[in-house]
Amino acid sequence: ATQLSAASLEALSGVAVPSYDRSRVTAGIVHFGVGGFHRAHQAKVIDDLLSQGVADDWGICGVGVMPSDKRMRDVLEAQDHLYTLVEKHADGELTARVIGSIVDYLYAPDDPEAVIERMADPSIRIVSLTVTEGGYNINQVTGEFQLDDARVAHDLTSDAPETVFGLVVEALRRRRDRGITPFTVMSCDNLQNNGEVARHAFTAFAHAKDADLAAWIDDNVLFPNSMVDRITPVTTDADRAEIARQFGIDDAWPVVCEPFFQWVLQDRFTDGRPPYQDAGVEVVDDVEPYEFIKLRLLNSSHQGLCYFGYLMGYRYAHDATQDPLISEFLLAYMNIDATPTLKPVPGLDIETYKPQLIERFSNPGIRDTVARLCAESSDRIPKWLLPVVRDQLAMPEPHVQFAAAIVASWARYAEGVDEQGEPIDVVDRLKERVMAAAQRYPDDKHGFLRDEELFGNLVDEPVFVEAYDRVLSSLQEVGARETLRMLLAAA
Ligand code: NAD
Repeated sequence: ATQLSAASLEALSGVAVPSYDRSRVTAGIVHFGVGGFHRAHQAKVIDDLLSQGVADDWGICGVGVMPSDKRMRDVLEAQDHLYTLVEKHADGELTARVIGSIVDYLYAPDDPEAVIERMADPSIRIVSLTVTEGGYNINQVTGEFQLDDARVAHDLTSDAPETVFGLVVEALRRRRDRGITPFTVMSCDNLQNNGEVARHAFTAFAHAKDADLAAWIDDNVLFPNSMVDRITPVTTDADRAEIARQFGIDDAWPVVCEPFFQWVLQDRFTDGRPPYQDAGVEVVDDVEPYEFIKLRLLNSSHQGLCYFGYLMGYRYAHDATQDPLISEFLLAYMNIDATPTLKPVPGLDIETYKPQLIERFSNPGIRDTVARLCAESSDRIPKWLLPVVRDQLAMPEPHVQFAAAIVASWARYAEGVDEQGEPIDVVDRLKERVMAAAQRYPDDKHGFLRDEELFGNLVDEPVFVEAYDRVLSSLQEVGARETLRMLLAAA
């Protein structure tokens, strides 16, 4: 295999390489958190636009702030910032292309001043982030930015900042002082209202440092919300070997992902943006209706497959989804319970989206685990699934049988013993409480539902409770497989 670099591109065959002159591309975006997802998603979009010749001044300068990012610095440097993006199709086929949109990479601990000055430069008009959900440093319970975090506390007094907050806020200060329009701060992390979360974090940090600067940021910087979607698992050695074998590329850190791609982005930019809409990005005024659809269809369906799937013996999401009983159950949940609660959004055809989800979940290349989907249920079910139940119950003829079945399957799973009598490793911050409540069945039939923090007053809703009872007793008596048969026959 050929070691990937600018000089070796010509030698590659069977893989698309940048068709544009990379020497003409300059950075307009600084990105924090160059991991798998950024390289499968935003960097791919810029690569598309560069191929169309419409974004020469929107190249990406990556920045790493974590010790683990040293490796990304070294890999990208050795490969002229090129890497291979491989889409894994459901039939096992792989398609590969070399992405050229990252033109520079700075490892902040090497030289924080260089990172700040790069962002202070007027050529940079967007600072984007995929620093993980935890990277926003927000306390889960209070919702407040954590000023007592050790690295944040360091940055509040130091001239050599270590965190994204210290670096970005100092760059904004210099732009203000030099009369340069501030850049947009664009979060692409998987958080509801990610722009608002970012605004809260950066202004809270700035406020602790300099109240005038915080007020200026609040008045002048924009933080668009976005909804991002593309399953991008961690790159494995098996992926590297396969890419060398199939495509003849020796890439130290390629990226693998599913073919599906979605990015819905709020159109709020301080100083321009690339023509994202030309590369399949949905640029909209309001992201919320799209988030709504994603949570009630994609995320809730994950819960629909994981407990039933686990009880039926499946350990991978694709194996579970390939069982027709499960895929039909998910479609029934989506069509009958969830869809009537959704508001139509322009440009998103729900009737295509639903079967496409089944296809995505069935993709054997992704190897998503059922255990991952079952984890932290008490954070997920109330946020994703129960809003469907509540909206349905407010309708004249409510349909909640499938949503109730999902809740009942969680209750059965939370008993902590599978249908063969083997223990289940329940992972949940409320593990003890939910397991104890689930285990009181059948002496206390509704003990599980009576947890108000999770379910509100659902236990007082006869339509819901009746459906829940029927499924839970069926799960106990005849098991998950027969219960799904019963539910689908009745639908
Ligand atoms: P990754 O582990 O490959 O990369 C994460 C990057 O974030 C690394 O560069 C890491 O150094 C950096 N980072 C972590 N904590 C940080 C902090 N406190 N401050 C600054 N940088 C920090 O992970 P990934 O797959 O690229 O996912 C990153 C994020 O992208 C996810 O947490 C999620 O919000 C979003 N996302 C991922 C996927 C996916 O399928 N992987 C899908 C949608 C959205």
